[in-house]
Parts: sequence; structure tokens; C-alpha cells
Amino acid sequence: MFSTKFAVNSLQRNRSTAWRSFSKTTATFADQYDVVIVGGGPGGYVAAIKSAQLGMKTACVEMRGRLGGTCLNVGCIPSKALLQSSHHYHDAKHHFADHGIVFDGDLSMDIDKMQDTKSKTVEGLTGGIEYLLKKYGVDYVKGKGKITGPNGVEVALTDGGSESLDTKNIIIASGSEVTPLPPVPVDNAGGKVVDSTGALEIGTIPKKMAVVGGGVIGLEMGSVWSRLGAEVTVIEFLDRILPMNDTEVAKKFQTILKKQGFKFNLKTKVVKSVVEDDGVVLTTEPSKGGDAKEEKFDVVLVSTGRRPYTEGLGLEDVGIQTDKLGRIEVDSHFKTAVPSIFAIGDAISGPMLAHKAEEEGIACVETIAGFAGHVCYDAIPGVVYTYPEVADVGKTEEELKEAGIAYNVGNFPFAANSRARANGSADGFVKVLADKETDKILGVHIIGPNAGEMIAEAVIAIEYGASSEDMARTCHAHPTLSEAFKEACMDTYDQPIHF
Ligand SMILES: Cc1cc2nc3c(=O)[nH]c(=O)nc-3n(C[C@H](O)[C@H](O)[C@H](O)COP(=O)(O)OP(=O)(O)OC[C@H]3O[C@@H](n4cnc5c(N)ncnc54)[C@H](O)[C@@H]3O)c2cc1C
Repeated sequence: MFSTKFAVNSLQRNRSTAWRSFSKTTATFADQYDVVIVGGGPGGYVAAIKSAQLGMKTACVEMRGRLGGTCLNVGCIPSKALLQSSHHYHDAKHHFADHGIVFDGDLSMDIDKMQDTKSKTVEGLTGGIEYLLKKYGVDYVKGKGKITGPNGVEVALTDGGSESLDTKNIIIASGSEVTPLPPVPVDNAGGKVVDSTGALEIGTIPKKMAVVGGGVIGLEMGSVWSRLGAEVTVIEFLDRILPMNDTEVAKKFQTILKKQGFKFNLKTKVVKSVVEDDGVVLTTEPSKGGDAKEEKFDVVLVSTGRRPYTEGLGLEDVGIQTDKLGRIEVDSHFKTAVPSIFAIGDAISGPMLAHKAEEEGIACVETIAGFAGHVCYDAIPGVVYTYPEVADVGKTEEELKEAGIAYNVGNFPFAANSRARANGSADGFVKVLADKETDKILGVHIIGPNAGEMIAEAVIAIEYGASSEDMARTCHAHPTLSEAFKEACMDTYDQPIHF
């Protein structure tokens, strides 16, 4: 604690003296920065706030016109707003009667109102980030940034003209974009073949919707429109959905989604799409080749993945390498081949998740400020925000087998959890994987109500190196869903009580 304060204070003193000696550039913004961040998404804006909190003079360059990046504008937040609205509708239509709540008239869905609520949420939150940058004294530079050298960023300003920013350090937080799928070109404006951004803007409920790609984004957006009445077919190249998740969980999840009305064409590839006046004809084939089939859909969502966005940054000119997937190469301290230039978030390797980008943003600026910035990559949770939710942290059973690590498995179904039963939502289970010899928790996989909130306890367990017995002997409030985690831990090293 003492050393941190001392270092921050000395940094603040340095800022007011040393940096002033640099020559002036054009006028609008401060003439010398400690840190310039290119990109105002969760990685970039969090890095900017932390950098300013550490006493460094900071600018954040963003070209979108709004802060918050993919996450707040066209990702996490708008998708969760639509998931929430559609969940309310689905619940009201299919489950309220179980609780004695009966509508006399028809229940209907006002899509414009739902979209309006989503837009207001996005507006409020992105405005909030702008307020935070102001509060902490970060210069928000609106425009597209290009790196001109180890200490220079040239910004083509949104309002015209350009600005040269001199800086001791640069952090690239330029994020990611949708990876195109050549047989199915996206046209969000047309509204028939859309990517995730277009799927957030659909104005009428499609009768038939195809989701190409059975990953997190496809299943979340598919859920929104399925709950509202669309017949959703998932077309997936592999033999399973959620390829990064534990297989047992992914299988259970697929069964639950099927019960909700989803159709699945696994081991199938899309080879052609033809847009017609009244829909889109998709031609598919078995992944390994074989007879082609045609089917017409009102809307096709292409959700086969995202790739780093580094266009126009001028990386090659300053000697920064990207790997074959386009990810900027960095060392374990986020440093590129140029010592004063760092990169974080979706633009580098690792899971493309907002919270991963944020952790990297903090660790990166702490490293720049001379502290021991660190991210524990074993303890980054992943969540699918469907109903029920799917959440995981740490290793899957398949990964442990492949690494030759002996493990114990504990499992507890929500059907045996009193709160889940009282809530009338008891599909799913908690699965705990712990080292056979030491009992240290190595992975936790949850499919069930509120899994996205429940996983936080497992993240802490992994971060602090807890054993399954540690967690099982920790008192959990009753009746809560988190008792299922406690009992799964009991099952891992001994036996559960309620199953
Ligand atoms: C539909 C959808 C749902 C998602 N849901 C979740 C979720 O629930 N949870 C989760 O953790 N993650 C989710 N994600 C992923 C999450 O949005 C990203 O992992 C996260 O936003 C990455 O943060 P970032 O800061 O690295 O990049 P981004 O958020 O992509 O931000 C980068 C920013 O940099 C700007 N930029 C790029 N180049 C320049 C330049 N040269 N000059 C100026 N500005 C530039 C871009 O305009 C952009 O605003 C979702 C993504 C999508 C598409």
C-alpha cells in the first residue's frame, strides 16, 4: 500500500515537470501525454480511467462517435437489453399462469418499444462513460487514430482536420469486427442477411430465422427472436454447439434449447445464399461434403466469429507484428515489438470478452506506471446469457483429460435445489472439477438460472486457490441457488446432502 502511494505521488510530480520539455504540436489537446489509448471500448476506456487515476496524463481516441466500444454500443449491453425484454414476454406468455397470473386480453409484443428501451439503455451508459472520462481528467479525442511512430498518434478528427498527439506510451485497444462468411454476405441495411449488429435492429419478428454458427452470440440472439415467436434453426459446421465449453454442459444446453423450439443442423455448412424479395434461400451441405439442400428463411444471422480490428492503425509502418489470425503480438506485459506501444482486449489473443479487455486495460497501465500489473487467465469467466444461462471458469473435463491431469468431478442438479424448485426453474446443474490429489478447484461449469451471477463465487475460488472442501464448508444462505454450488463441491470431495 505504502509503496503504491509513494510511486503514484512521484509519478504525478514527474508529470508536471519532465513531460513539459517536449515540443508543441497543434493546439486543441494537451501537448504531451503519458498515455494515449486508441479505442474507447471496455479495454480502452477502463485503461484510460485507471491511467488518469494513477496520475498519468491520458487521452482516449475513439472514432465511433460514442464511447463504450462494441460492448456498450453493439454487443454486451444492447443484446442483454433485448434478452431481458424477450425473457419478460416469454415468461408472461408461458409461465405466469403457473403462478396464477392470468391475462384476460391478448398478450402482444411492441417491438418498437423494446428497441427504444434498448437504445435508451445504450445512450445512458455510453454517456456515463463520457462523464467518467471527464471526471478523471482524460482527454476524449473524437476521431480515427493512426500510429505514426513510437511516440506519435495522428488523429483524423471526426469534425474535420487532424491532431497530432505526442505521448510517452501508446495503448492499442482497437477491438474486433465480424469475420465475413463469403457464401453469405451480410447486408444489415437490407435486414435479411444480418450480423450481430443487424440482429440487434430487427424491426419485425421473423417467422423463420437461420442462425449460422452455434456459438455464444448466435445462441443469444437466436434466443431473443425465438422467445418472440420466430422458428430458429441453428446451422453449425461442427458436431456440437458452444465448441469452447465443457461437452456435457453443451449437450445439456442443446437439449434445453430444443425443448424451447430451436432446431439444430449440426455438421452442416452453408455454401450459398440467394436474397429474394420475400426471404433468403440458403444452400447447405454436410460439413464433410454430400448432397446439398435448400431452405428459405425470412432472416439469416451470420454469427461465425469475430476477428481483431486493426485497419488503418499503421502497424506495419512502425514494425508491429500480427499473427495469422490478425491478433497483435504482445509479451506477457502487453508490450508489442515497439517498447512504448502496448495492445489489449479483442485486438490481442485470448477470449474476446469485455471483462478480459478491462482486466488487461488495468494491468497494462499499472505496468506502464511501474507496478506489477497482472491478469489471471485461469480465472476468466464466460457466460451465455440465455435462459437458463451457461457459465464457466477454468478447465473443461476435456482439457484436463488432454493435459493428463487426474481429477474428481462433483455434480449437483438444480432439480434438487429448493430455491430453483420454488422458482419453478430447475433445469441444469453445477459441475465442479478438482485436482484428484490436492482437491484444488480447476474448473466450474454451471447451466441453470442465474449461472452468470453464480459463477463469480467459482472465479474467486479459483483465483484464491480454494479446494472443493473449502467451498463446501463455507456457509451459504438458504434458500439460494448458490447452495447448488456448495453441494456440487460436497459431491466433489465427499457426498452432497440433498441428492
Ligand atoms: C453481440 C455481441 C454480444 C456480446 N456480448 C458480450 C457479453 O455479454 N459479455 C462479454 O464479456 N463480451 C461480450 N461481447 C464481446 C465484447 O463486446 C468485446 O469482447 C469487447 O467489447 C472488447 O473490448 P475492446 O475494448 O477490446 O474492443 P471494442 O469494444 O471493440 O472497442 C474498440 C473501440 O476502438 C475503436 N477503434 C478502433 N480502431 C480505432 C482507431 N484507429 N481510432 C479510434 N478508434 C478506434 C472502435 O470504434 C471501438 O469502439 C459481445 C460482442 C458482441 C458483438
